[in-house]
Amino acid sequence: MPRPIQAVVHTQALRHNLQAIRRSAPDARVWAVVKANAYGHGIERVFEGLRGADGFALLDIGEAQRLRALGWRGPILLLEGAFELRDLEWCSRLDLWHTVHCEAQIEMLAAHKTHVPQRVFLKMNSGMNRLGFVPSQYRAAWTRLNALPQVDEISLMTHFSDADGPRGIAHQTTAFEATTADLPGERCIHNSAAVLRHPLHTGGTGVVGPTSDWVRAGIALYGSSPDHPAHSAGDWGLQPAMTLCARIIATQTLEAGDAVGYGSAFVAERPMRIGVVACGYADGYPRICPSGTPVLVDGVPSCTVGRVSMDMLAVDLTPVPLSGDGSEVTLWGGATNTAVLPIDVVAEAAQTLGYELMCALAHRVPVQVEN
Ligand SMILES: *Cc1c(COP(=O)(O)O)cnc(C)c1O
Repeated sequence: MPRPIQAVVHTQALRHNLQAIRRSAPDARVWAVVKANAYGHGIERVFEGLRGADGFALLDIGEAQRLRALGWRGPILLLEGAFELRDLEWCSRLDLWHTVHCEAQIEMLAAHKTHVPQRVFLKMNSGMNRLGFVPSQYRAAWTRLNALPQVDEISLMTHFSDADGPRGIAHQTTAFEATTADLPGERCIHNSAAVLRHPLHTGGTGVVGPTSDWVRAGIALYGSSPDHPAHSAGDWGLQPAMTLCARIIATQTLEAGDAVGYGSAFVAERPMRIGVVACGYADGYPRICPSGTPVLVDGVPSCTVGRVSMDMLAVDLTPVPLSGDGSEVTLWGGATNTAVLPIDVVAEAAQTLGYELMCALAHRVPVQVEN
Protein backbone atom coordinates (compact mmCIF):
# COMPACT_ATOMS: atom_id res chain seq x y z
CA MET A 1 0.00 0.00 0.00
CA PRO A 2 1.34 3.45 -0.83
CA ARG A 3 1.95 5.81 2.04
CA PRO A 4 -1.48 7.18 3.02
CA ILE A 5 -1.12 10.79 1.93
CA GLN A 6 -2.74 12.46 -1.03
CA ALA A 7 -3.37 15.78 -2.65
CA VAL A 8 -6.54 16.32 -4.64
CA VAL A 9 -7.04 18.92 -7.37
CA HIS A 10 -10.69 19.94 -7.63
CA THR A 11 -11.63 20.67 -11.23
CA GLN A 12 -15.06 22.00 -10.33
CA ALA A 13 -13.57 24.46 -7.83
CA LEU A 14 -11.23 25.80 -10.54
CA ARG A 15 -14.23 26.36 -12.84
CA HIS A 16 -16.16 27.98 -10.00
CA ASN A 17 -13.28 30.32 -9.11
CA LEU A 18 -12.82 31.32 -12.74
CA GLN A 19 -16.48 32.28 -12.82
CA ALA A 20 -16.02 34.31 -9.62
CA ILE A 21 -13.24 36.28 -11.33
CA ARG A 22 -15.41 36.78 -14.40
CA ARG A 23 -18.24 38.12 -12.26
CA SER A 24 -15.87 40.69 -10.72
CA ALA A 25 -14.42 41.70 -14.10
CA PRO A 26 -17.30 41.09 -16.51
CA ASP A 27 -15.87 43.03 -19.44
CA ALA A 28 -12.30 41.83 -19.15
CA ARG A 29 -10.62 38.84 -20.66
CA VAL A 30 -8.99 36.58 -18.11
CA TRP A 31 -5.46 35.23 -18.13
CA ALA A 32 -5.33 32.13 -15.99
CA VAL A 33 -1.88 32.45 -14.42
CA VAL A 34 -0.34 28.98 -14.37
CA LYS A 35 3.29 29.81 -13.58
CA ALA A 36 5.17 27.60 -11.14
CA ASN A 37 3.41 24.55 -12.55
CA ALA A 38 0.00 26.09 -11.89
CA TYR A 39 0.93 27.21 -8.36
CA GLY A 40 1.97 23.66 -7.52
CA HIS A 41 -1.23 22.02 -8.78
CA GLY A 42 0.23 20.79 -12.09
CA ILE A 43 -0.52 22.36 -15.48
CA GLU A 44 -1.95 19.15 -16.89
CA ARG A 45 -4.13 18.71 -13.82
CA VAL A 46 -5.68 22.17 -13.86
CA PHE A 47 -6.12 22.40 -17.62
CA GLU A 48 -9.63 20.97 -17.70
CA GLY A 49 -10.84 23.30 -14.95
CA LEU A 50 -9.24 26.43 -16.42
CA ARG A 51 -9.64 25.91 -20.16
CA GLY A 52 -12.58 28.33 -20.03
CA ALA A 53 -10.08 31.18 -19.52
CA ASP A 54 -9.18 33.45 -22.43
CA GLY A 55 -5.49 32.68 -22.16
CA PHE A 56 -2.78 31.23 -19.97
CA ALA A 57 0.05 33.29 -18.48
CA LEU A 58 3.29 31.71 -17.30
CA LEU A 59 7.07 32.12 -17.29
CA ASP A 60 8.72 29.10 -18.89
CA ILE A 61 8.83 28.06 -22.51
CA GLY A 62 8.68 24.49 -21.22
CA GLU A 63 5.35 25.18 -19.52
CA ALA A 64 4.06 26.81 -22.71
CA GLN A 65 5.04 23.70 -24.65
CA ARG A 66 3.09 21.56 -22.21
CA LEU A 67 -0.01 23.72 -22.76
CA ARG A 68 0.30 23.44 -26.53
CA ALA A 69 0.75 19.67 -26.11
CA LEU A 70 -2.57 19.61 -24.25
CA GLY A 71 -4.18 21.08 -27.35
CA TRP A 72 -4.48 24.70 -26.18
CA ARG A 73 -4.50 26.92 -29.28
CA GLY A 74 -5.49 30.20 -27.61
CA PRO A 75 -3.24 32.95 -26.25
CA ILE A 76 -0.26 32.20 -24.02
CA LEU A 77 1.67 35.06 -22.41
CA LEU A 78 5.22 34.88 -21.08
CA LEU A 79 5.03 37.13 -18.02
CA GLU A 80 8.76 37.83 -17.85
CA GLY A 81 9.27 37.74 -21.62
CA ALA A 82 12.33 36.36 -23.37
CA PHE A 83 15.52 35.60 -21.45
CA GLU A 84 17.58 35.05 -24.59
CA LEU A 85 17.22 35.38 -28.35
CA ARG A 86 16.35 31.71 -28.80
CA ASP A 87 13.23 32.23 -26.70
CA LEU A 88 11.86 34.45 -29.44
CA GLU A 89 12.22 31.57 -31.89
CA TRP A 90 10.10 29.52 -29.53
CA CYS A 91 7.59 32.38 -29.39
CA SER A 92 7.32 32.24 -33.16
CA ARG A 93 7.08 28.46 -33.25
CA LEU A 94 4.54 28.14 -30.43
CA ASP A 95 2.74 31.42 -31.15
CA LEU A 96 3.45 32.93 -27.73
CA TRP A 97 2.86 36.53 -26.71
CA HIS A 98 5.53 37.97 -24.49
CA THR A 99 6.27 40.75 -22.07
CA VAL A 100 8.90 43.36 -22.86
CA HIS A 101 10.23 44.94 -19.68
CA CYS A 102 13.77 46.08 -20.55
CA GLU A 103 16.01 47.44 -23.30
CA ALA A 104 17.77 44.11 -23.83
CA GLN A 105 14.45 42.52 -24.81
CA ILE A 106 13.83 45.24 -27.40
CA GLU A 107 17.29 44.57 -28.83
CA MET A 108 16.54 40.85 -28.98
CA LEU A 109 13.37 41.58 -30.91
CA ALA A 110 15.24 43.81 -33.32
CA ALA A 111 17.66 40.93 -33.95
CA HIS A 112 14.94 38.29 -34.29
CA LYS A 113 14.42 36.89 -37.78
CA THR A 114 10.75 36.26 -38.38
CA HIS A 115 8.11 36.69 -41.04
CA VAL A 116 5.31 36.81 -38.51
CA PRO A 117 5.30 39.85 -36.21
CA GLN A 118 4.84 39.11 -32.52
CA ARG A 119 2.30 40.41 -30.03
CA VAL A 120 4.02 42.02 -27.06
CA PHE A 121 3.00 43.37 -23.66
CA LEU A 122 5.10 46.41 -22.78
CA LYS A 123 5.55 46.56 -19.04
CA MET A 124 5.69 49.73 -17.01
CA ASN A 125 7.40 49.98 -13.64
CA SER A 126 4.70 52.13 -12.07
CA GLY A 127 6.14 51.92 -8.56
CA MET A 128 6.82 48.32 -7.62
CA ASN A 129 10.41 48.53 -8.87
CA ARG A 130 10.62 44.96 -9.98
CA LEU A 131 10.26 44.81 -13.78
CA GLY A 132 9.41 47.39 -16.43
CA PHE A 133 10.25 50.77 -17.88
CA VAL A 134 9.77 53.72 -15.55
CA PRO A 135 7.13 56.20 -16.76
CA SER A 136 9.71 58.66 -18.09
CA GLN A 137 11.20 55.96 -20.37
CA TYR A 138 8.01 54.11 -21.24
CA ARG A 139 6.90 56.08 -24.27
CA ALA A 140 10.34 55.94 -25.86
CA ALA A 141 10.28 52.15 -25.44
CA TRP A 142 6.82 52.05 -27.02
CA THR A 143 8.01 54.12 -30.00
CA ARG A 144 11.02 51.88 -30.57
CA LEU A 145 8.91 48.74 -30.37
CA ASN A 146 6.27 50.19 -32.63
CA ALA A 147 8.87 50.84 -35.33
CA LEU A 148 10.09 47.22 -35.38
CA PRO A 149 8.77 44.99 -38.17
CA GLN A 150 9.09 42.07 -35.70
CA VAL A 151 6.36 43.59 -33.54
CA ASP A 152 2.63 43.31 -34.14
CA GLU A 153 0.21 44.70 -31.55
CA ILE A 154 1.56 46.32 -28.38
CA SER A 155 -0.44 45.94 -25.18
CA LEU A 156 0.22 48.03 -22.10
CA MET A 157 0.93 46.33 -18.81
CA THR A 158 1.87 47.05 -15.22
CA HIS A 159 1.76 45.18 -11.91
CA PHE A 160 0.56 46.30 -8.48
CA SER A 161 2.59 46.06 -5.29
CA ASP A 162 -0.28 46.78 -2.86
CA ALA A 163 -3.52 45.60 -4.45
CA ASP A 164 -4.05 43.40 -1.37
CA GLY A 165 -3.33 46.04 1.25
CA PRO A 166 -4.15 49.46 2.61
CA ARG A 167 -1.96 51.41 0.19
CA GLY A 168 -4.07 50.18 -2.72
CA ILE A 169 -3.53 50.80 -6.42
CA ALA A 170 -4.35 54.47 -6.96
CA HIS A 171 -0.76 55.75 -6.92
CA GLN A 172 0.21 53.23 -9.57
CA THR A 173 -2.86 53.55 -11.79
CA THR A 174 -2.38 57.33 -11.78
CA ALA A 175 1.19 56.96 -13.02
CA PHE A 176 0.15 54.34 -15.56
CA GLU A 177 -2.77 56.28 -16.95
CA ALA A 178 -0.94 59.60 -17.09
CA THR A 179 1.78 58.00 -19.19
CA THR A 180 -0.38 55.86 -21.46
CA ALA A 181 -3.49 58.02 -21.91
CA ASP A 182 -3.09 58.56 -25.66
CA LEU A 183 -1.33 55.30 -26.52
CA PRO A 184 -3.36 52.71 -28.41
CA GLY A 185 -3.47 49.09 -27.29
CA GLU A 186 -5.12 46.85 -24.73
CA ARG A 187 -4.47 47.37 -21.04
CA CYS A 188 -3.46 44.52 -18.75
CA ILE A 189 -3.00 45.59 -15.16
CA HIS A 190 -5.10 43.68 -12.60
CA ASN A 191 -4.02 40.65 -10.56
CA SER A 192 -6.39 38.65 -8.33
CA ALA A 193 -6.35 41.13 -5.45
CA ALA A 194 -6.99 44.10 -7.76
CA VAL A 195 -9.90 42.34 -9.49
CA LEU A 196 -11.57 41.50 -6.20
CA ARG A 197 -10.82 44.65 -4.21
CA HIS A 198 -10.76 47.41 -6.83
CA PRO A 199 -13.69 47.59 -9.23
CA LEU A 200 -12.87 47.86 -12.90
CA HIS A 201 -14.07 50.75 -14.99
CA THR A 202 -16.75 49.25 -17.19
CA GLY A 203 -17.08 52.06 -19.67
CA GLY A 204 -20.54 52.93 -18.41
CA THR A 205 -21.35 55.42 -15.70
CA GLY A 206 -21.11 54.75 -12.03
CA VAL A 207 -18.08 52.57 -11.48
CA VAL A 208 -14.89 54.57 -11.38
CA GLY A 209 -11.68 52.71 -11.60
CA PRO A 210 -8.91 51.91 -14.03
CA THR A 211 -9.47 49.89 -17.19
CA SER A 212 -8.00 46.44 -17.62
CA ASP A 213 -8.92 44.72 -20.86
CA TRP A 214 -7.07 41.67 -19.62
CA VAL A 215 -6.82 40.66 -15.97
CA ARG A 216 -4.15 38.26 -14.70
CA ALA A 217 -5.73 35.96 -12.15
CA GLY A 218 -3.63 33.52 -10.23
CA ILE A 219 -4.18 32.86 -6.55
CA ALA A 220 -7.96 33.39 -6.61
CA LEU A 221 -8.36 30.66 -9.24
CA TYR A 222 -6.76 28.25 -6.82
CA GLY A 223 -9.16 29.20 -4.06
CA SER A 224 -6.87 31.13 -1.74
CA SER A 225 -7.75 34.66 -0.68
CA PRO A 226 -5.34 37.30 -2.02
CA ASP A 227 -5.93 39.46 1.04
CA HIS A 228 -6.29 37.04 3.95
CA PRO A 229 -6.95 37.81 6.79
CA ALA A 230 -8.88 40.94 5.72
CA HIS A 231 -11.08 38.62 3.66
CA SER A 232 -11.27 34.85 3.69
CA ALA A 233 -11.56 32.79 0.52
CA GLY A 234 -15.17 32.18 1.57
CA ASP A 235 -15.81 35.94 1.77
CA TRP A 236 -14.77 36.16 -1.90
CA GLY A 237 -16.87 33.14 -2.83
CA LEU A 238 -13.81 31.03 -3.66
CA GLN A 239 -13.49 27.28 -3.21
CA PRO A 240 -10.24 25.42 -2.49
CA ALA A 241 -8.75 23.89 -5.64
CA MET A 242 -6.29 21.79 -3.64
CA THR A 243 -6.80 19.46 -0.72
CA LEU A 244 -3.91 17.89 1.17
CA CYS A 245 -4.98 14.97 3.32
CA ALA A 246 -3.34 12.01 5.01
CA ARG A 247 -4.27 9.24 7.42
CA ILE A 248 -3.47 8.49 11.01
CA ILE A 249 -0.95 5.64 11.13
CA ALA A 250 -0.58 5.35 14.93
CA THR A 251 -2.14 6.68 18.13
CA GLN A 252 -0.63 7.38 21.51
CA THR A 253 -2.25 7.87 24.88
CA LEU A 254 -0.52 10.53 26.96
CA GLU A 255 -0.50 11.28 30.66
CA ALA A 256 -0.08 14.82 31.94
CA GLY A 257 3.61 15.69 31.56
CA ASP A 258 4.23 13.40 28.56
CA ALA A 259 5.96 15.07 25.61
CA VAL A 260 5.46 14.70 21.86
CA GLY A 261 8.04 14.64 19.08
CA TYR A 262 11.45 16.21 18.56
CA GLY A 263 12.62 18.62 21.21
CA SER A 264 9.65 17.66 23.41
CA ALA A 265 8.13 20.87 22.10
CA PHE A 266 4.65 19.87 23.26
CA VAL A 267 3.97 18.62 26.77
CA ALA A 268 0.49 17.34 27.67
CA GLU A 269 -1.21 19.22 30.50
CA ARG A 270 -3.80 16.48 30.96
CA PRO A 271 -4.36 12.92 29.80
CA MET A 272 -5.08 12.94 26.06
CA ARG A 273 -5.01 10.85 22.91
CA ILE A 274 -3.00 11.90 19.89
CA GLY A 275 -2.82 10.61 16.33
CA VAL A 276 0.37 10.35 14.27
CA VAL A 277 -0.29 11.45 10.69
CA ALA A 278 1.55 10.39 7.52
CA CYS A 279 2.46 13.92 6.52
CA GLY A 280 5.60 15.90 7.24
CA TYR A 281 7.70 18.73 5.93
CA ALA A 282 9.07 16.55 3.15
CA ASP A 283 5.52 16.51 1.79
CA GLY A 284 5.33 20.29 1.78
CA TYR A 285 3.67 20.82 5.15
CA PRO A 286 5.60 23.70 6.77
CA ARG A 287 7.89 22.68 9.58
CA ILE A 288 7.44 26.08 11.16
CA CYS A 289 3.77 25.40 12.00
CA PRO A 290 3.57 25.45 15.80
CA SER A 291 1.48 23.26 18.10
CA GLY A 292 -2.10 24.44 17.71
CA THR A 293 -2.09 24.76 13.91
CA PRO A 294 -5.60 23.86 12.71
CA VAL A 295 -6.36 20.51 11.05
CA LEU A 296 -9.54 18.53 10.45
CA VAL A 297 -9.71 14.99 11.86
CA ASP A 298 -12.52 13.06 10.19
CA GLY A 299 -13.76 16.51 9.19
CA VAL A 300 -13.80 17.80 12.80
CA PRO A 301 -11.66 20.82 13.77
CA SER A 302 -8.60 19.95 15.84
CA CYS A 303 -4.95 20.96 15.82
CA THR A 304 -1.36 19.78 15.63
CA VAL A 305 0.73 18.97 18.70
CA GLY A 306 4.52 19.11 18.77
CA ARG A 307 7.00 19.72 15.99
CA VAL A 308 6.39 18.70 12.41
CA SER A 309 8.95 16.08 11.42
CA MET A 310 10.05 15.00 7.94
CA ASP A 311 7.43 12.31 7.38
CA MET A 312 4.98 12.72 10.26
CA LEU A 313 3.15 15.14 12.45
CA ALA A 314 0.88 14.62 15.45
CA VAL A 315 -2.66 15.84 16.05
CA ASP A 316 -4.88 16.12 19.11
CA LEU A 317 -7.68 13.54 19.02
CA THR A 318 -9.58 14.99 22.00
CA PRO A 319 -12.37 16.53 19.87
CA VAL A 320 -12.82 13.27 17.92
CA PRO A 321 -12.97 10.35 20.40
CA LEU A 322 -14.04 7.87 17.72
CA SER A 323 -11.05 8.61 15.49
CA GLY A 324 -7.99 6.39 15.34
CA ASP A 325 -5.81 4.43 12.94
CA GLY A 326 -6.88 5.16 9.39
CA SER A 327 -8.82 8.31 10.23
CA GLU A 328 -8.68 11.06 7.62
CA VAL A 329 -6.71 14.17 8.52
CA THR A 330 -7.17 17.20 6.29
CA LEU A 331 -4.12 19.44 6.37
CA TRP A 332 -5.83 21.99 4.10
CA GLY A 333 -8.74 22.00 1.70
CA GLY A 334 -11.92 19.93 1.90
CA ALA A 335 -12.71 16.95 4.12
CA THR A 336 -14.90 14.01 3.08
CA ASN A 337 -17.71 15.39 5.27
CA THR A 338 -17.50 18.67 3.23
CA ALA A 339 -15.93 20.70 6.07
CA VAL A 340 -13.27 23.08 4.73
CA LEU A 341 -9.94 24.14 6.24
CA PRO A 342 -8.75 27.13 4.20
CA ILE A 343 -5.12 26.91 3.12
CA ASP A 344 -4.78 30.55 4.23
CA VAL A 345 -5.36 29.59 7.87
CA VAL A 346 -2.49 27.11 7.77
CA ALA A 347 -0.35 29.62 5.87
CA GLU A 348 -0.94 32.17 8.59
CA ALA A 349 0.23 29.70 11.23
CA ALA A 350 3.35 29.22 9.07
CA GLN A 351 3.86 32.99 8.79
CA THR A 352 3.40 32.84 5.05
CA LEU A 353 0.77 32.90 2.31
CA GLY A 354 -1.39 30.30 0.62
CA TYR A 355 0.74 30.89 -2.48
CA GLU A 356 3.85 29.44 -0.85
CA LEU A 357 2.10 26.40 0.61
CA MET A 358 0.50 25.31 -2.65
CA CYS A 359 3.69 25.90 -4.63
CA ALA A 360 5.65 23.82 -2.12
CA LEU A 361 3.55 20.66 -2.40
CA ALA A 362 6.23 17.99 -2.65
CA HIS A 363 6.77 15.81 -5.68
CA ARG A 364 6.44 12.67 -3.56
CA VAL A 365 2.79 13.39 -2.73
CA PRO A 366 0.49 11.55 -5.14
CA VAL A 367 -2.10 13.84 -6.70
CA GLN A 368 -5.53 12.86 -7.82
CA VAL A 369 -7.70 15.02 -10.08
CA GLU A 370 -11.33 15.07 -9.09
CA ASN A 371 -14.21 16.46 -11.11
C1 LIG B 1 1.97 35.92 -10.59
C2 LIG B 1 1.52 37.11 -11.32
C3 LIG B 1 0.16 37.45 -11.38
C4 LIG B 1 -0.90 36.69 -10.62
O1 LIG B 1 -0.99 37.19 -9.31
P1 LIG B 1 -2.07 36.64 -8.27
O2 LIG B 1 -1.82 37.46 -7.06
O3 LIG B 1 -1.74 35.21 -8.06
O4 LIG B 1 -3.40 36.84 -8.90
C5 LIG B 1 -0.20 38.52 -12.14
N1 LIG B 1 0.72 39.24 -12.81
C6 LIG B 1 2.03 38.96 -12.77
C7 LIG B 1 3.00 39.80 -13.52
C8 LIG B 1 2.48 37.90 -12.02
O5 LIG B 1 3.79 37.61 -11.98
